[in-house]
Amino acid sequence: KKVKVCMGTGCMGGGAEEIFRAFQEEVERQGLEAKVVPVGCQGFCQGGPIVSVEPYQFFLNKVSVFDVPKIVDIALRRGGELPQHFYRDPETGMVCRRKKDMPFYRYQTRIAMKDLGEINPMDIEDYIAVGGYLALAKALTEMHPEEVIEEVKKSGLRGRGGAGFPTGRKWEGARRAPGEKKYVICNGDEGDPGAFMDRSIMEGNPHSVLEGMLICAYAIGSDEGYIYVRAEYPLAVKRLELAIEQAKERGLLGERILGTNFNFDLHVKKGAGAFICGESTTLMISIEGKRPAPRVTPPRSVEQGLWGMPTCLNNVETFANIPAIILNGGDWYAQYGTEGSKGTKAFCITGKTRNTGLIEVPMGMTLKEVVFKVGGGVMGEGKFKAVQTGGPSGGCIPDAYIDASVDFESLTRLGSMMGSGGMVVVDDRTCMVDFARFFLSFTQRESCGKCPPCRIGTYEMLQILDRIVAGKGEEGDIERLEAIGRMVKKTSLCGLGQSAPNPVLSTIKYFRAEYEAHIRQKH
Ligand code: SF4
Repeated sequence: KKVKVCMGTGCMGGGAEEIFRAFQEEVERQGLEAKVVPVGCQGFCQGGPIVSVEPYQFFLNKVSVFDVPKIVDIALRRGGELPQHFYRDPETGMVCRRKKDMPFYRYQTRIAMKDLGEINPMDIEDYIAVGGYLALAKALTEMHPEEVIEEVKKSGLRGRGGAGFPTGRKWEGARRAPGEKKYVICNGDEGDPGAFMDRSIMEGNPHSVLEGMLICAYAIGSDEGYIYVRAEYPLAVKRLELAIEQAKERGLLGERILGTNFNFDLHVKKGAGAFICGESTTLMISIEGKRPAPRVTPPRSVEQGLWGMPTCLNNVETFANIPAIILNGGDWYAQYGTEGSKGTKAFCITGKTRNTGLIEVPMGMTLKEVVFKVGGGVMGEGKFKAVQTGGPSGGCIPDAYIDASVDFESLTRLGSMMGSGGMVVVDDRTCMVDFARFFLSFTQRESCGKCPPCRIGTYEMLQILDRIVAGKGEEGDIERLEAIGRMVKKTSLCGLGQSAPNPVLSTIKYFRAEYEAHIRQKH
């Protein structure tokens, strides 16, 4: 029997550490043979603190320390007499149900997050027990580096950090690039407001990221790597450092890994929390200890990246997909998703949906399925109005396109993007001008200021939006926003500027009447 207590940042904020200790004490007090295990994020974050009890499949939400004696007594001592479908404790408000009955989980397909919420992220043995590091062993002992790259190419995996570049092709480029030394970097900088996919993976299954990086290093011929994590993710940093230590002790990092000639060393580098440091060239400059700002490409990072050496950079979710691809094969992974966007994608669904949290769904699922089946539809009395995908520089997709498929191509066609996986649902009580202004104010503040189109253009756009929202909009303001937005997108140096106008341009495209109404109501 096992009690799994979610120890992700969200649940810990709700008192999970106290709950964990209370379970340990109560199990001991009642003299029961049950293990109390800390696990990573279970995804259903609105239900936190979350506890699950095995083998009874009890999924308990809103647990408090006051619930602990009762849960131990009913679920562990008496052998699982908790209600069948749904039960809300009248005294504490705790909710009990079974995961398999919840649409939130039923429509998900988990690959990168398969073991998240199931294993103890602070114990390498737990990861090994579910097949962890088998993919590394397979790569090192049965596959030539070129075969590893071929398998990743076959899978169709595209970078999950935003740009969606084919991962296998990137690895191939890094392998072919001449250089005495090569680096592997994992981008764990995740700066989008409301997005916590990468943080949850780093906190909940850090070894999957390490294993993905090790396989990449073997494939491209690298012996050193960095995981770049923002310092605002202290729990992720702590668990990554512990994972590195344990992997070293187990002979999975360092020299002669698994008795082969392959060597790889790994460091955690903490970032100071600037959004721009999530941009790949900037991230590398930051690791080098210089003032971070994007640089012009080419040369591409796979040719001249960190300290001028060939460097392969992928994000956390991308690396977390690699072990499953190597173990099961590229064709297996490619069976999920669409023609151009294979596999699954992790999202953080937030905003006005009934269910909010962390999800992983197959590419090609429609927005409607994600919002209404997994997300449970719009909460309260409101009606669905739009969904913003792709983080602060994503676009808003209105109700008319709710049947659109969630994949790289479809979202881009609609004026939005996949981004790293933020998904904010908006109901009919939300002013879209205000909504767009909020996101632009974020990107404008985070602009590094290196190139004038982004530095001045986003500022000008924000000034116009401010006056529209304040009821001081002028004739021609909408057209001015469109013209500046197009110019900023076309002429900015990096992805931040190239995508910052998206929330404004897409809301003008789909909700122009709201802008006009603000201007008409001038006072
Ligand atoms: Fe900096 Fe913006 Fe230019 Fe990027 S686009 S380099 S963030 S000023």
